[in-house]
Amino acid sequence: MDLSHRTILITGATDGIGKVLAVEFSKLGSNIILLGRDASKLDTVYDQLDHSFKSQKHLILQADLSLLNNESAHEIHNAIAEEFISLDGIIHNAAILGTMTTLEDYELSRWDEVLNVNLRAPFLLTKTLKTILETSMLPRIIFTSSGVANMGRAFWGAYSVSKFGLKGLAEIFANELETTSSIKVFNFDPGATQTKMRASARPAENPNTLKTPSDLVNCYLWFFSEESSDSKQHYFEYADLSKKVTAT
Ligand code: NAP
Repeated sequence: MDLSHRTILITGATDGIGKVLAVEFSKLGSNIILLGRDASKLDTVYDQLDHSFKSQKHLILQADLSLLNNESAHEIHNAIAEEFISLDGIIHNAAILGTMTTLEDYELSRWDEVLNVNLRAPFLLTKTLKTILETSMLPRIIFTSSGVANMGRAFWGAYSVSKFGLKGLAEIFANELETTSSIKVFNFDPGATQTKMRASARPAENPNTLKTPSDLVNCYLWFFSEESSDSKQHYFEYADLSKKVTAT
């Protein structure tokens, strides 16, 4: 798949799934906008990106999404608009797990941080970047879901609530944009994947029993394909989408 001349913003691009997507998408020619909170991790990923395509360029945006506000979201918009003609996609990947505890014991400050990173930031970034996305020929927004977005489970607290909220947010954006915009909105649950977050949620699990972030790349690529333009389905789980992409 040729992604040259496509510019994709990946939040939480310094680790786990986001980092692998940044590296793999860059190999296909994409311009990558790496958004993360840690400057040295951003530099390390930047150095791993492919720079060999003609006119390919990448951008680092250092931002702590727990603190995102109108002003910093507009700064992100302006930084992208200064460097690129258009924005072709946002992969809203950044998230934090928060604390695995009962609701009764959940610290309010931690609750707010999780909701800010996982739900408020994707809302504000999408809203602020919508106009620049609409300059793309094939614009995409991909939200990242989870198994606990559909069923409340003890101890998953703010993380689960944020993913329930994100599902609603994605559905509302999809519904609002399908008649007024060329932007396609998807919400994808990658399922259990070998990352730092998964290890924190399930410390007793053997990570070698899980798929790796690299196994997800073809699913994410499908969202950026012309084929997905005709999809009436917005919500996907890894198990179903991976079969679909293997079959095509
Ligand atoms: P991860 O390895 O913990 O990576 C999360 C990324 O988000 C890191 O780059 C992290 O930055 C960044 N991030 C966290 N807080 C941030 C903030 N305040 N501002 C900016 N960036 C921030 O997690 P992952 O497992 O790859 O998860 C990626 C996505 O998949 C998440 O949305 C998660 O909910 C979802 N998901 C994962 C699994 C799984 O099994 N792994 C399953 C279902 C859904 P740092 O490098 O600075 O920490």
